[in-house]
Amino acid sequence: MTDTHTHIYMPDVFPDYGVEAAGRAIEAGVTRMVFPCVNENSLPAMRKLHEAFPRNTRLALGLHPTDLEGDWRAQLDRMEQMLPGDFAAIGEVGIDLYHDASQRAEQREAFARQLRWAVKHSLPVIIHCREGLDDTLEVLQELKNECELPQLIFHSFTGGPEEVRRIREVCDPLFGINGVVTFKNAPAVREALPVIGLDRMLLETDAPWLSPAPLRGRTNESARIPLIRDCIAATLGVSPEEVESRTDSAAYNLFFK
Ligand SMILES: [Zn+2]
Repeated sequence: MTDTHTHIYMPDVFPDYGVEAAGRAIEAGVTRMVFPCVNENSLPAMRKLHEAFPRNTRLALGLHPTDLEGDWRAQLDRMEQMLPGDFAAIGEVGIDLYHDASQRAEQREAFARQLRWAVKHSLPVIIHCREGLDDTLEVLQELKNECELPQLIFHSFTGGPEEVRRIREVCDPLFGINGVVTFKNAPAVREALPVIGLDRMLLETDAPWLSPAPLRGRTNESARIPLIRDCIAATLGVSPEEVESRTDSAAYNLFFK
């Protein structure tokens, strides 16, 4: 299995840079992990864990929409210089107006710019979209008017069937499903699963956040992917093995091929 979105490299949560957590994941059958980048300060820790498990892990490069601080345009310049390097994706990038909508224009600018990196280097894009679907789809549509869109992943997807349909009017992304699917109070995403279909779905934990039931509220880690797999299987009425093999081939092709 692949955890397509995990931050277990964060030393403030995992003081050993996630080495033990990655070991537990591999033992649980989660043999591949993708580390999204929040800002350039994420990179040394991401690299440390990647160097401990080079075959099992992949790195993404990106500036998170809620991290547009200081001279963030210069930070984007520095990141751009690092590409393509050994990065397997651009992310996590996108729009997040949940706590603060005052940087809407800046978030759109940063998102659009990083999408162009993905086009240039043929990399998939891990999209973080929270209270920002209109803006996200507008930015994607603007790019689509100029060129072919890169491969897109709507990470931490928690919307319902209607949201899937709206997104598909603009693009045909993969949808990252995490522990939220196991939460009693999140029926929308469970209703969306059959609309998404197993071949357009990726498993992710978003560790250390969003630990799945029955471990909700704890520090999350990549070893809990099987809880998410099993919930998806039960919801769709298919075997866990089928969820595993179909989501995993998409994840492998995107990040590890
Ligand atoms: Zn994340």
